[in-house]
Amino acid sequence: MDRKKNCVSIAIDGPSASGKSTVAKLLASKLNYLYVDTGAMYRAYTLAVIKAGLDPKNEEASNSLIGKIEISFNENNKITLNGEDVSKEIRDNDVANNVSYIASYKNIRLFLVSLQQKIADNKNIVMDGRDIGTYVLKDAEVKIFLNADVEERARRRFIENKENGFETSYEACLENIKKRDYIDSHRDFCPLRQAEDAILLDSTKLSIDEVVEKMEEIIRSKGF
Ligand code: C5P
Repeated sequence: MDRKKNCVSIAIDGPSASGKSTVAKLLASKLNYLYVDTGAMYRAYTLAVIKAGLDPKNEEASNSLIGKIEISFNENNKITLNGEDVSKEIRDNDVANNVSYIASYKNIRLFLVSLQQKIADNKNIVMDGRDIGTYVLKDAEVKIFLNADVEERARRRFIENKENGFETSYEACLENIKKRDYIDSHRDFCPLRQAEDAILLDSTKLSIDEVVEKMEEIIRSKGF
């Protein structure tokens, strides 16, 4: 895709619960860039499969919704499925436990990637996900790979779920994150991996503000 040269794209990738969405959102608001959470799009697709009574482990059945559902972001940047705000429902355990199967299906990825590229076209953007620097926005001006120890990521997800009113245990979060890490990094098409030109940032011992600061330093070091 031919993207305008005077727009800046910042790609933030990393494993589940590494804090990407939180810091990417803050960073985008500081820079006055559009923020796009691509994980929310895979979650919305998964929710659509579940709502349709289809089995997310069945690739053919899951593929049947391609082009038939509308996934986008509303004026408040909330994820919508067929026009309905589903930002709460997509955090459900049922969605979290099935999203990595859906994200491993090539045709569903191609469908969502094309939406993501359209959203990013001609805009200053911060986009987070698993394959943004390696595939979706390969020519992004700044690429950051955000990681943290798996136990710390499970602890953060457990607290976040509790704050959002979802009943889970720390052990269940740890298990879900390990399972998603495995599936995300072992799938054939666009697996989770650090782009060669991405800068690695480990957030295990950093606060949210410290991570945002480090990201701003990285962006400045690239001349933006
Ligand atoms: O970022 P979040 O944890 O909400 O993403 C949910 C899931 O969506 C991930 O575990 C991964 O399977 C999938 N995903 C992906 N590629 C992206 C974003 C998310 O495969 N660009």
